[in-house]
Amino acid sequence: MDFQSDPGQDAFREEVRAFLREHLPAELRGNAIGEVRSVRERIKRWQGILNARGWGGPYWAREHGGTGWTVLQRLAFDEECAAAGAPTQDFLAQKLLGPALNAFASQGQRDEHVTRILSGERLWCQGFSEPGAGSDLASLHTSAEHSGGHYVVNGQKIWTSYAHEADWIFLLVRTDSTVRKQAGISFLLADMKTPGITVRPIRSIDGCHHLNEVFFDNVHVPVGNLVGAEGDGWKITKFLLNNEHAGAADLPLLRKCVSRLRALAVSQRVEGRRLIDDRGFALKLARLEAEVDAIVMMVQRVAAMEQDHSPAAHALGSMLKVRGTELQQKITGHLVEALGGDGAVAYAEPHDTTGGAPLPRENIGRGIATEMFFRRASTIYGGASEVQRGIIAKTLFQL
Ligand SMILES: Cc1cc2nc3c(=O)[nH]c(=O)nc-3n(C[C@H](O)[C@H](O)[C@H](O)COP(=O)(O)OP(=O)(O)OC[C@H]3O[C@@H](n4cnc5c(N)ncnc54)[C@H](O)[C@@H]3O)c2cc1C
Repeated sequence: MDFQSDPGQDAFREEVRAFLREHLPAELRGNAIGEVRSVRERIKRWQGILNARGWGGPYWAREHGGTGWTVLQRLAFDEECAAAGAPTQDFLAQKLLGPALNAFASQGQRDEHVTRILSGERLWCQGFSEPGAGSDLASLHTSAEHSGGHYVVNGQKIWTSYAHEADWIFLLVRTDSTVRKQAGISFLLADMKTPGITVRPIRSIDGCHHLNEVFFDNVHVPVGNLVGAEGDGWKITKFLLNNEHAGAADLPLLRKCVSRLRALAVSQRVEGRRLIDDRGFALKLARLEAEVDAIVMMVQRVAAMEQDHSPAAHALGSMLKVRGTELQQKITGHLVEALGGDGAVAYAEPHDTTGGAPLPRENIGRGIATEMFFRRASTIYGGASEVQRGIIAKTLFQL
């Protein structure tokens, strides 16, 4: 693996930067620390702009309407968008559902849904986890009974991110409880406006509304919304969760946080002295920057393996997830510490619906407490660290 800069890659970055300078409107800029996901209207508008440029599917192959970019190009695109303050995309649709539809859905389903993901017309949420079925997803209970032209769905999902902003949900349901638990699971698509679906908010520790419970009470879902065959749900889920590894550390976020820490180290003063002039703090910052650099190299390695379809990418992706999310927690903790006494105040954010006076945009602490609190969950969502360590032990060390 060659870590030298690649002129082709540099030219690609410049192309993305030029596009962002020209086409990212000023009023859409500002995906700051603490803005874990952009609000619905910003996501939709930005997706429309990307799609008009032919970049609506940055992670997909050309034959599926995507850009056909290499893994390294996709990472560069993510980093440049984050650095420019572009809104986030609908990652659940882009990185999870879209590739699964492209691989398993019928032509009719692709015509109906894939085009709307690309255009930003339809936002999605992921209904997998249930009370008692998170890491052990195969134990899920939500049932779907085939009746005439419909499945009648009953049950409950939990931790459903952005269900309150989503137009549709992709969900796992049990269509057969008489077979091995993995074999009885199917993959359904449902319109969130279908009668019988109720969304209840869960307020998380950062004070924001990302999460929900979603209840299904005799919800009639057309049989045409089944992806693949009955019982294919587990196969599709394995594909969907194993589809992308190099992004597991969320490098754009790490870079954003560590550069904010450096900025604070220069601007914050303790007893008249800049934080950066404190040897202990400077050393801590240098260590964190070195750790981010190490992750950059690891990401490049995983990207190269992924490009070559190497099976080791899976285990290394798990390593990246563990290292990257632990580092997110460490850096955001130091960010709060660098704010001194102000760090103890969890400021209300402009997008926060809990009320309270919003913090002026230019305030130095803006977003930091929110980000730190939200990232406490990063070692749980997307596969808990203990489970990732299990994957590493099994796939790398055959334990
Ligand atoms: C912010 C956030 C957003 C989320 N968004 C979504 C979403 O949009 N859609 C969705 O479907 N789900 C979502 N989830 C749910 C997430 O996928 C689950 O929380 C996760 O899979 C863990 O499941 P659990 O919460 O049931 O915990 P459990 O699986 O009960 O785990 C509890 C503890 O036991 C440990 N543990 C479990 N199994 C093992 C094992 N085999 N070996 C060692 N230790 C183990 C875990 O690591 C953890 O520490 C989200 C979660 C969070 C926190």
